Amino acid sequence: MDRFNPFTTAQQQLDEAAGELGLDPATHELLRWPMHEIKATLPVRMDDGSTRIFHAFRIQYNTARGPAKGGIRWHPQETVDTVRALAAWMTWKTAVVDIPLGGGKGGVVCNPKELSEREKEQLARAYIRAMARSLGVTKDVPAPDVYTTPQIMAWMMDEYETIVGENHPGVITGKPIPLGGSQGRGDATARGGIYVTREAAQAHGIDLSGQSMAVMGFGNAGQHAALLGEEILGLKLVAASDSKGGVYNPSGIDAAQLVDYKLKNGQLKGFPHAEAVTNRELLELDATVLFPAALEDVITRDNAPRIQCRICCELANGPTTPDGDGILNDKGVIVLPDFLANAGGVTVSYFEQVQNSNNLYWELQEVHWRLDKKMTHAFQSVYEMSQKKQISLRRAAYLVAVARVAEACKLRGWV
Ligand code: NAD
Repeated sequence: MDRFNPFTTAQQQLDEAAGELGLDPATHELLRWPMHEIKATLPVRMDDGSTRIFHAFRIQYNTARGPAKGGIRWHPQETVDTVRALAAWMTWKTAVVDIPLGGGKGGVVCNPKELSEREKEQLARAYIRAMARSLGVTKDVPAPDVYTTPQIMAWMMDEYETIVGENHPGVITGKPIPLGGSQGRGDATARGGIYVTREAAQAHGIDLSGQSMAVMGFGNAGQHAALLGEEILGLKLVAASDSKGGVYNPSGIDAAQLVDYKLKNGQLKGFPHAEAVTNRELLELDATVLFPAALEDVITRDNAPRIQCRICCELANGPTTPDGDGILNDKGVIVLPDFLANAGGVTVSYFEQVQNSNNLYWELQEVHWRLDKKMTHAFQSVYEMSQKKQISLRRAAYLVAVARVAEACKLRGWV
């Protein structure tokens, strides 16, 4: 079957950056592949007494800059190449925000919607038993991703601590706060994106106050983007959508009211004071800032010519296809690339790990202040590179990140 392979895309992106940076062949080849891959087969006793076998992966893509870091996905269509690609992207993401971590990712092929709570717990513990020797604060620190939750992180941490016989909360991030989770992790992804949007607007002399925003996807990232876009940037929410469709009001929608409505009704459809809009229409609305915060491949060569925003802040992973990206760039849209725009999540995960290591916990304001500093600095490095080379922010982000990882490999004497 000829299936889209995300790892091929990840390697192509690296190839382009390596060419532009003039990386030597050994460094280039080293960065094209994961440094360490673990495949495990997990037997799990199900509620009906039967035993099911689950296939699981953990990929440690590159650890030159620090321990591997990246979430664990539970998904029926999980493949080793998806996990490899996501691990590569985590490597560039931790490098672009300059946190002392490498990149990793994990996955289990399963459909969590078909599993009971007890079965999920058994699967979480089986995963850690299989991987424990390769995990740890100095080796590899997982986190939640698609369909894995703080509760699953809590079971995983407990299993790890049972195996090593010590308290080790920093082995995993995204934990519930009573077990060592960090303040501010909940809105960190959107908050990081908002800080980067603020910096981009400033760099381009755009005054965002009173301007409009549209948000595609109204889950964790999208809801917080709407709330913080209002609070921090003074933007006016004019449209938002979820998988069932969207709502639009050019005079403005109160973000807090809309979040409340979504939480009560499970959907945006039917929200009073706004008209219905489809997801496709939402992307093409006249809004100064667009936050794609749902799925990949929604901005393509078909709709990019009609997209009107000035800033597109990619909170979702991979919302813009390469063709679509080229068109947006030609139109002068400022595209804040995903692995920079949504890096706030992993940055606060790193803060969680630091707090766990010190056994000392920060106030919310300290988390916000440190996140702002990291995101602002990351944007400035990428922006300077894009100005120097006259390239898009996405290409510049790749150059900054890959150069940092390559330098670490060289300093270690690996290449
Ligand atoms: P979520 O599950 O909380 O929310 C996803 C939202 O997208 C939901 O409102 C859902 O209804 C909506 N949606 C699904 N299909 C849609 C469609 N076809 N059209 C419009 N909306 C649709 O997920 P999230 O955590 O907010 O993640 C959203 C994106 O952000 C993903 O690409 C994710 O990888 C990325 N991201 C999230 C984080 C994080 O910390 N949450 C970190 C980095 C990247």
